[in-house]
Amino acid sequence: MAYSLLIRNCGQLLTLAGGPTDQPLRGPHLAGWRILENAFVACQDDKIVALGSIAELDEAQISAETKVLDAAGKVVMPGLVECHTHLVFAGNRAHEFQRKLQGESYLDILASGGGILSTVRATRAAAEDELLAIALRHLRDFRRYGITTLEAKSGYGLDKETELRLVRVARQAGRQQPVRVVPTFLGAHVVPPEYKGRPADYLDFLTREVLPELAGEADFVDIFCEEGAFSVADSRRYLQRAQQLGFGLKIHAEQLHDLGGCAMAAELGAISVDHCDYLNAADAAGVAATPTVAVLLPLVPLFLRQEKYAPGRQLIEQGVAVALSTDFNPGSCPSKNLWLALSVACLKMGFTPKEAIAAVTLNAAWALNLAPEIGSLAVGKRADLLVLDVADYQEIPYWLGENPVRNVVIGGQVQHG
Ligand SMILES: [Zn+2]
Repeated sequence: MAYSLLIRNCGQLLTLAGGPTDQPLRGPHLAGWRILENAFVACQDDKIVALGSIAELDEAQISAETKVLDAAGKVVMPGLVECHTHLVFAGNRAHEFQRKLQGESYLDILASGGGILSTVRATRAAAEDELLAIALRHLRDFRRYGITTLEAKSGYGLDKETELRLVRVARQAGRQQPVRVVPTFLGAHVVPPEYKGRPADYLDFLTREVLPELAGEADFVDIFCEEGAFSVADSRRYLQRAQQLGFGLKIHAEQLHDLGGCAMAAELGAISVDHCDYLNAADAAGVAATPTVAVLLPLVPLFLRQEKYAPGRQLIEQGVAVALSTDFNPGSCPSKNLWLALSVACLKMGFTPKEAIAAVTLNAAWALNLAPEIGSLAVGKRADLLVLDVADYQEIPYWLGENPVRNVVIGGQVQHG
């Protein structure tokens, strides 16, 4: 059967292949993947069926039906994988930006009923079709940045009805446009006003009343383990019960304090531990001994005006598998620009450009348990590809804040608009 899509004249084809395929890239493997020069990649329907140097191209597989994309000597790479977003929410928190600039901290604003709780009020009041329209608009923006798979957390409902609505909206949004959406249940985002001072009771309620309704609807269960949210002991109990119900586990931990949430979750077999700004070296060594991916979110300390960033270089040297994401959300990162996150990881966390590229593709796919299908370019993998407007991969983090995407291909289909 002829190729349905051929991308030729790829100056650099960033395959992300060549390392171990049974676990995330770590240590030297994070930058050890292969770049092919003067290359092509060919697809049939939604799969990659051939790639290599242009001399290896089988011209007999090109027919009148083959769509040919000329990469004009530029970089071609896998679609970006956004492995940590809070996609579905109503309103915004621009009014708190000013308060933050005047020196109020994230936890101060939360304690005064602002922050997450102000988005909860707006989200509870929003109709389902309104939330869907907002999610679809954000997904269109993400797609233009080259995101082809995106994780979407609930967490701005904090009651049964709204939390289930948020998961439903994420799934529906995934069906109505081409970017693949992976829903995560974050009902344990903070303690809602109705359970003020009773975090364990709220987690019991979620376990009893909400988790059973989410089988087959959400892939992962997540919790915000932090002062002012949930303790390590409460988080452990909740995650264990979610695991018994068959969910994969994620955790927000060590964002603002070193409480030990990352080590606890990695020990339970969490697919990812996210933030890690305050992760200490001993706990990082524990995480390195597991398949758990540390998802680092460099735009969050930037937006919260904090000096402390996750110790990316140290984590890489320790052999922790690391990924990068925006943490797109209305409070601590209203940006959908994963390219900017990648640049800031180089500037503030000590990533090299090649490591940062692996952290937004293959390792981010590992953080969603999707690495067998996406995140690298190899025969049999899904045809999620980007043609960029730069000739060398080193330019990707260099053009700070720019969007280098020229073409987005999702499932073998070239996207427009
Ligand atoms: Zn988050």
